[in-house]
Amino acid sequence: MRLGAQLSQAHGFDVVIREAGSAGLSALQLFSRNPVGGQGKSLPPAGSLKPVLREAGIERLYIHAPYFVNPAAIDEAMVGRARVALKQEMRRAKRLSGDYVVLHPGHWQDKARREESLAAFVDTVAIMLEAPGRVLVENTAGQGRELGADFLELQQIFQGIGRTRRVGLMLDTAHAMAFGYPLSSRDDVERLLERVDENVGIERLQGIHLNDSLYPVGSRRDRHARLLSGCLGREALGALLRWCDASHCPLVLETPGRDTIQRQPDIGIIREVCQEESACVSPSTVFYPTASPPR
Ligand SMILES: [Zn+2]
Repeated sequence: MRLGAQLSQAHGFDVVIREAGSAGLSALQLFSRNPVGGQGKSLPPAGSLKPVLREAGIERLYIHAPYFVNPAAIDEAMVGRARVALKQEMRRAKRLSGDYVVLHPGHWQDKARREESLAAFVDTVAIMLEAPGRVLVENTAGQGRELGADFLELQQIFQGIGRTRRVGLMLDTAHAMAFGYPLSSRDDVERLLERVDENVGIERLQGIHLNDSLYPVGSRRDRHARLLSGCLGREALGALLRWCDASHCPLVLETPGRDTIQRQPDIGIIREVCQEESACVSPSTVFYPTASPPR
């Protein structure tokens, strides 16, 4: 299984990559800059992290886009700023040898013009793709004015983007629960994956942000929690781990904490649940066997 985490790069990109590798992780998510604003600090030379990633055994590096821009803004100056920053983020990700830029669909400004906001987001993604690299659109909790919480809305976004292997989906389990998709049982996991397949296409699923949600299902409040401390069920966690293992879909922890030491409780729970799963379910009974193709 490819397990990863969002970690802080405060001590340097090479340092955090080695830290992830020593903790046994094989995927990693980083911000390339302060996600809430300010000047993006300078990056290491292009390609210099590639050997560091290889040596550390990090097979998938996600670069999370900053939050201070609204890629779905209707206001021209506002969306213009977002597009410049996000196209630059694609270049920053490439320089860091990142595989994907992970992006939230942004916020609607005027509810009556929600459709226009979605169209603006689709155009933003097209502009990002003028730079080399790949994008993952993340489902949201639907908090406040957030777009992209409902899978029908994500379907609309992906239809607008069109069929390209350069854009995929990042599924956040805390956001899915907060919006209203329960994840208590094995059936819940199966239903959610079927929904992903029906509305977006399971082959587009290129990563899962594995988080528990502090607030209840349907609360539309985005607060990540430690695994099994919120509304995520143990049975659902086992089913998700099993599915990710079978389909080689990387998991990225965004639970509270900034480093691998603070993430140990979650990593421990994953190991424990994995052991239970392999003890009680034979490989031939893996449900919903559609796997994402290797990248
Ligand atoms: Zn997330």
